Amino acid sequence: MSENLLNAALTAAERGWPVFPLRPGDKRPAGHAEARCPGTGRCAEGHRTPEQRATRDTATITAAWSAAPYNVGLATGPAGLLVVDLDLPKDDADTAPEVWAGMADGLDVFATLCDQAGERLPTETYTVRTRSGGQQLYFTAPEGKTLRSGAGVLGWKVDTRAWGGYVVAAGSIVGGRPYAVIHNAPPLPLPAWLSDLLTPQPLPAPMPITSLATHMRKTSAYLATAVEGELEKVQSAREGGRNGALYAAAYALARFIRLGDLTETAVDTDLTAAGLSVGLSPTECRTAIRSGLRRGGAGEEVGAA
Ligand SMILES: [Zn+2]
Repeated sequence: MSENLLNAALTAAERGWPVFPLRPGDKRPAGHAEARCPGTGRCAEGHRTPEQRATRDTATITAAWSAAPYNVGLATGPAGLLVVDLDLPKDDADTAPEVWAGMADGLDVFATLCDQAGERLPTETYTVRTRSGGQQLYFTAPEGKTLRSGAGVLGWKVDTRAWGGYVVAAGSIVGGRPYAVIHNAPPLPLPAWLSDLLTPQPLPAPMPITSLATHMRKTSAYLATAVEGELEKVQSAREGGRNGALYAAAYALARFIRLGDLTETAVDTDLTAAGLSVGLSPTECRTAIRSGLRRGGAGEEVGAA
């Protein structure tokens, strides 16, 4: 068993990925947490995080993994990787939020994102099946960009692992279940559209909402009231409900697009402004608006070039 884990660590290092030990049978890093740092040994000059300690050095790895059957932590940032982590619901109560209603798991959500971007699901890249049955798609991170780890940044059950995070490398066994390579190929470069979605955007200044009335092809009191009502709902949505409110507004306004009373561009522009003004990110706005318009039957073309 130990030898398999040593081999897993060396294999990752040979691919160019720095590794560090995880507790045997577990996915937490071995060694002390920063709060309990003794300030001696490797931490004599200050605590060193797993990301800082991760190594590709054969002798260091061999010595570490000869001491105990450690699982293998892969420091994604130093490895130059961005891993898309597609998770499964924890239990029956763990269901998709309204924006992702009907989605079964992270793979569903990611496939939908690919579809909305007009891209294929990138299945040809190095892929690991996690102990829970989820999948991790490995990509090489774009040069000159420091992408950070994030939970749910792309959607429900879709996490990313880059700087500030790590993944459990193939060959590790957590709770008796293995992490296994299910597609053994070199990692592909991160697709440009994903790189764009994951690039941190500067926080926008609060934006006044322009009235959709200026975009209306036909003005009617009824329409103006409906539109203002939807924008108000987005603006008054509390944290946690903002995404859903934006989705609901897009869904409601899709009807007027179908009827030819509003243009998709106008709705997209103004709902984005409303979403940004309540603190949603451009990515969150885009996702919620596209999903709402699509489900509301306003077509697939919003945001497409
Ligand atoms: Zn320390």
